[in-house]
Amino acid sequence: MPRVAKGYIEQLPSGSFRVSVYAGTDPLTRRAIRLKATAKTEQQAQIELGRLLKEASEGRRPESNATIAKLLDEYAAIAEWDVSTRQTNEGFIRRTIKPALGHLEVRKVRGPILDQLYARLKRCGDLSCTGRPFTEHRNVPVLVLNPRDRRPAWHQITETLTEAIQSGSLAPGDELPSITELSALQDIGTGVIRRAFEALAADGLILTRRGQSPVMAGTAAAMLPGARKRTGPGHDCRRAGCRPHVCHPMKASTIRGIHSILSGAFAAAQRWEWTDRNPTRSAKPPTTIRRPIPATSPDDVAKVIAEARGRSAALGLYLWLVVVTGVRRGELCGLQIRDIDLDRGLMHVAFNYVVRGGQGVRKDTKTHQDRWLAIDPDTCALIAAYLDEIRTELAAVGAELRDDAYLFSNDPAHTRPWNPDWATHKVAEAAAAAEVKLDIKGGRHYTASQLLAGGFDLRNTAARLGHSGGGATTLRHYADPVPEVDRRAAAYLARLTSGSTSQD
Ligand SMILES: [Zn+2]
Ligand SMILES: [Zn+2]
Repeated sequence: MPRVAKGYIEQLPSGSFRVSVYAGTDPLTRRAIRLKATAKTEQQAQIELGRLLKEASEGRRPESNATIAKLLDEYAAIAEWDVSTRQTNEGFIRRTIKPALGHLEVRKVRGPILDQLYARLKRCGDLSCTGRPFTEHRNVPVLVLNPRDRRPAWHQITETLTEAIQSGSLAPGDELPSITELSALQDIGTGVIRRAFEALAADGLILTRRGQSPVMAGTAAAMLPGARKRTGPGHDCRRAGCRPHVCHPMKASTIRGIHSILSGAFAAAQRWEWTDRNPTRSAKPPTTIRRPIPATSPDDVAKVIAEARGRSAALGLYLWLVVVTGVRRGELCGLQIRDIDLDRGLMHVAFNYVVRGGQGVRKDTKTHQDRWLAIDPDTCALIAAYLDEIRTELAAVGAELRDDAYLFSNDPAHTRPWNPDWATHKVAEAAAAAEVKLDIKGGRHYTASQLLAGGFDLRNTAARLGHSGGGATTLRHYADPVPEVDRRAAAYLARLTSGSTSQD
């Protein structure tokens, strides 16, 4: 079906002619798309009109004039980010990218603009900072409770803050002091402030974030270097909690995070034909230097395992398995009885147990590659003893340990796995009691560095730890699903870690 195309010619005061043709509606901005041209004579204008009408009927569109803010909204809606990444990225977008670039048109952004932004952030994360000293004003109104007012205190505070928001003195993106801070500054109970914040959040006026200060809802206005917040009449720096600005350089890794959001967004803009240029290709975010973290020594690891064992056999075994298998914490939580083959000395790692919004989900491992790991005879004996104990307890009540029961569970029949956060917490407690700095990630780090130090090659070490590209998938095709080197790795780690513990 031919597209609707209407056009006209008008003469400008200068005497030349302007040609304009309607070419549909921009699905994003909802504005009419017009193809335009100018001509010196009426005859030329007629020719231009014919040409533009033809182009419009063929579906030509000028590049979108959507802004970066619009692009980020559209991109964030479709980006495949997991829950925690989404939270982080939306924070970067709200606090930094939109105030810095949101007002710019997508097709006008060039690499140097991004380089300038990265350089600014590297010096100071505050976009309004020019490097010269200034006071960070906060336009928090003076909160006064009227004793004659019959309404509850929180209601009065909510009203004062709402007025400040509606009058614009508290602008979108502004950060409010935290509950305790505001309470101390204005001498009003924390309970009253909390109620008021809850009411403002319910009305969509502020965004409250767990463990952080609330921010004013809405898109922050463009923040250019040197742009300072103006203070209203009767502003009281002391009560508002204004402070002299201290520069906080943004970490290189954070700037890289911002760069990667922009890369994704511009790639999408290109796919959507909003622009034919991707400025993030030429922009250079600062490089991060990774300092190797020294691995915990076998002695120290053994100390924590002994401490964990003293707390519970399950916790001791859990931490032992972390270091001798290098398995991720959620993978270990997701391990079921049928995943362990004690006769052949094998462990099948196929799932990662994650808890989101209070809901536990058993999902494919991080790299979507299930893998078989060798477990040494000592570890097999530890697991066997642990399972015997569970089976005996269950037999006493006439129950059996099912094949799909979880290895680590806090209920008698082992039907529900440990929450990985709980495991982290318990390991942290044991490490603190043993006075050793070690967490589950550190345990995996120990596995990797000790294997490499022990002469095991990177490929096999990576395969054991479940890093993609380690060749783990090909191993499944062998009669013994683990190579001989993994058998040696398992035995080596067990010997190394138990050799230095005084027990057993
Ligand atoms: Zn001030
Ligand atoms: Zn600064």
